[in-house]
Amino acid sequence: MTLSSVTGSPPVIVWFRNDLRLEDNPALYHAAESPLLPLFIWDENDPRPPGGASRWWLNKSLGRLQESLKQRGLNLVLKKGRPLEIIQELARQTHATGLYWNHCYDPYSRQRDTLIQDSLSGTLTCHRFNGSFLCDPQTLLNQTGKPYQVFTPFWKALQQTVQRPQILPAPQYFQDGCPSSVESDTLESWGLHPKQPDWSGEFETVWQPGEAGAYARLETFLMTAVKNYKAERNIPGLEGTSRLSPHLHWGEISPQTVWARTLETVWSRNQGLDPDAWHFLSELAWREFSSYLLYHFPQLLHRPLREAFLAFPWREDPEGLGLWQKGLTGYPIVDAGMRQLWRTGWMHNRVRMIVASFLVKDLMVSWTEGEKWFWDTLVDGDHANNAASWQWVAGCGADAAPYFRIFNPVLQGEKFDPQGHYVRTWVPELALLPDSLIHCPWQASPSILQKIGITFGTTYPYPLVDHGVARKRALEALQSTSKPHPLGQNSPLF
Ligand code: FAD
Repeated sequence: MTLSSVTGSPPVIVWFRNDLRLEDNPALYHAAESPLLPLFIWDENDPRPPGGASRWWLNKSLGRLQESLKQRGLNLVLKKGRPLEIIQELARQTHATGLYWNHCYDPYSRQRDTLIQDSLSGTLTCHRFNGSFLCDPQTLLNQTGKPYQVFTPFWKALQQTVQRPQILPAPQYFQDGCPSSVESDTLESWGLHPKQPDWSGEFETVWQPGEAGAYARLETFLMTAVKNYKAERNIPGLEGTSRLSPHLHWGEISPQTVWARTLETVWSRNQGLDPDAWHFLSELAWREFSSYLLYHFPQLLHRPLREAFLAFPWREDPEGLGLWQKGLTGYPIVDAGMRQLWRTGWMHNRVRMIVASFLVKDLMVSWTEGEKWFWDTLVDGDHANNAASWQWVAGCGADAAPYFRIFNPVLQGEKFDPQGHYVRTWVPELALLPDSLIHCPWQASPSILQKIGITFGTTYPYPLVDHGVARKRALEALQSTSKPHPLGQNSPLF
């Protein structure tokens, strides 16, 4: 018999989505005065469910949330199916009076949630909160009342909004509102963990999904890497960034908490906020900006925000795409990134930019193909961040890097991985090359290659394309889609 059935007061349902935490969870916090029924739904209507790596993460994270709730006397109810039907059935069974959730801002979730709220009116009261972002995208607008499309003014406006966010404590005590007649799926029955083959072996050694893991990751970062963030965030061979992205994506920690803890820790240490900490917060603001763009421009997921790119002559190149996915392009920094992604579900931001540029510019394969691969392989795969970043690299997004700025993978490698630490970690067959050749192994003499056991085409591939030739081809394609414009590079495509 549950407490609510003892007291007789009807429960409220807290629907967890991308907010798998107890602390600073507005929906949970505000619901906690009533008997609670915590719910997570595997939404079978979702046109784009989480990719493979994200499902691995979700499995672990839900397990941790189950444990935390259990310690406080609640069972997390797991249901698979159509959210509206599931909620209606639960409301019928339990006589629940309210439904609490934190907003998701991707187009499918917004449409779904509005439909649910409308359909439930008169039966259940819906209470919706912003639990996943620093700002409410509806209210942050420029002076003409329109959404910002350029990051810098957005960032300035955001700083005014979140000076000192208030952090909501995790409720210490809950009343169980879930009658024993309510059935829950088991997590195992959802089959989120990869099988045949189980490719996740290395994930376990890198990640600790769940709220405790998120807090530990933040505290470690604030004690160590934040001090040199500006300089070291671009060096993929160092742990120079927070690696909070999957925790933030799944809502195991709120951006408000990250913001507030950064201010507190750095302020008390330095008696002020240094440029490194500000830079870190500005990266957090890019996350904000991406979801803000997706809120105001839902087409971001599928269509270039710069319409002129609809005419861009992307190439069909399944073979090149496959070699890129496997990390066999013959460009060491690109291959290192793609292998880090496959083995750990994450890739350093600098290298994400390099591999993305290689796909859309050197291979001229559409950004949507890269976006799809990242969606499936990233533990932080996120509708907004992924699409916005791919459009940024491809030059077709809001405030994007212009298409004509094409990364040279050799120079990028030499600049950001000068001693080749990163390449040596992920492309071990090149490890014995001297630093001067690690990013351009094809320049090694036959005697060096023989001495260290590299045979091109067998132990390591020849470069898939000649970067100089590919660059020229990409620029010509760009010219062919953009009409000559008196302002040159300010033509509508840029
Ligand atoms: P830190 O440098 O520690 O930054 C702190 C937090 O700020 C991150 O956890 C992240 O939430 C946010 N952030 C940092 N950089 C960016 C950025 N450029 N854009 C948006 N948010 C940012 N990030 C995702 O979370 N999911 C994705 O699916 C994703 N896809 C990407 C695809 C491409 C092609 C590129 C170039 C970038 C993508 N990013 C994505 C952004 C960025 O690479 C990651 O957020 C970052 O590498 C995560 O590492 P971190 O947590 O150590 O970042």
